[in-house]
Amino acid sequence: MAWTKADPFLNGDTTMSNTWHCCACDHRPALSEQSLSPGLPTRECVECNGHWVRLDDHREWVASGAPQAEAPELAEHWLPEADSPARACPACQRIMERLRTGGQPDIRIDRCVHCHAVWLDGGEWAALQFQQARLDDVLSDMWQRQLREAQAQERRDAQVRQRHGAECIDEVLRIRQWLQQQAEPGVVLKLIRNGW
Ligand SMILES: [Zn+2]
Ligand SMILES: [Zn+2]
Repeated sequence: MAWTKADPFLNGDTTMSNTWHCCACDHRPALSEQSLSPGLPTRECVECNGHWVRLDDHREWVASGAPQAEAPELAEHWLPEADSPARACPACQRIMERLRTGGQPDIRIDRCVHCHAVWLDGGEWAALQFQQARLDDVLSDMWQRQLREAQAQERRDAQVRQRHGAECIDEVLRIRQWLQQQAEPGVVLKLIRNGW
């Protein structure tokens, strides 16, 4: 697939400059046309191995069945980058939003809502492949909502443990579980609270 087919500028979006911006990494190199996997065009920074990928191109690539042919491998010592400053989209220069994937490792993907594209730091594509995580899935509202809920629950858990002690909370969890197994949990709870 030729890059030009997917180039947002050539798709008639006049709000965009036809000049691609340099990568935000150290030597600010220009991005070059590449493919992330056969049949998946991207713009790559040769310096940091970051990739800008249009989500439509990714969808097309998934629909073509290409992912099944991939043999995912994760570099042994690869870790996602510690939280870096917000990144500007190299195509439109708008600040991208950063979304977690919640996997192991937990990758932070930068998404440009304007270009419907993502920026993947070097190593992130391999990590996604390794986790067999689909971009569309991990970027979906449902996935992101579940992640936020899980994060909020983790925070609540840490708070109650700090206030009441981990031992107490473990006991509460054990009793709750036991209560749920009773035929009449409401009645049993009343017995616990008020006696009989
Ligand atoms: Zn770079
Ligand atoms: Zn953009």
